[in-house]
Amino acid sequence: MRPLPGFAVTLLSLAALALHAADELPPPELTEYYSPVPPVIAAPAGGAPSDAIVLFDGTSLDAWEPVSADGHPWKIEDGAMVVIPTPAPAKPCDQQTKQAFGNIQLHLEFRTPAKIEGKGQGRGNSGVFFMGRYELQILDSHENPTYVNGQAASIYKQHPPLANASRPAGEWQTFDVVFIAPRFAADGSLVSPARMTAFHNGVLVQHDAVLTGPTEYRGQPKYLAHAAQLPLSLQDHRNPTAFRNIWVRELK
Ligand code: MG
Repeated sequence: MRPLPGFAVTLLSLAALALHAADELPPPELTEYYSPVPPVIAAPAGGAPSDAIVLFDGTSLDAWEPVSADGHPWKIEDGAMVVIPTPAPAKPCDQQTKQAFGNIQLHLEFRTPAKIEGKGQGRGNSGVFFMGRYELQILDSHENPTYVNGQAASIYKQHPPLANASRPAGEWQTFDVVFIAPRFAADGSLVSPARMTAFHNGVLVQHDAVLTGPTEYRGQPKYLAHAAQLPLSLQDHRNPTAFRNIWVRELK
């Protein structure tokens, strides 16, 4: 039999070495574990997960109250919670949850008015204020230019969205958000800032964005120590924005 050429011998040796190395890898079980077992949660299509706190299911405003004592509640119309716009110059009437929250996953659906009125920030403006302080902007941003860090799905005056996923006025849209609350030391100094990841109509619009402080219309934001849990609020910006299917999951 003719001897094998040198390169063939080398290839055979390499294959043998690889087989040998495979034998010496640790058994797969060493990197598999079985506890703690993740909780089992029902996640029905189009519905709230079984461990969610439902804040609005289309039938009751019981989870909500006006932010100011002299304010009025919003109304329920066709299963939606709808802003009753406060005419200027009276103070707008935001609504807040009776329950306070820290870190949460939030789902909500919103609809800006089908009848287009106003432009820029005046068109379909509302907002979700985490802890009553940190706004994820709601606006009719379908073919409605404004400053980009104030358009829909911006963290208002801080971070523009990564994309404009807005649907036309009058269509239902979704927000799915993970909000991580800021933490403060006992002396009031900031330990870690608030962070937000958000999807608008299923599109990633905020990716672990770091908030520089509470939402400010004028001037730079600045953190001020506050409670670890605070109500979530929705903004009355004098436009009749509607909401439905609002639920949160508390994140430990
Ligand atoms: Mg707003």
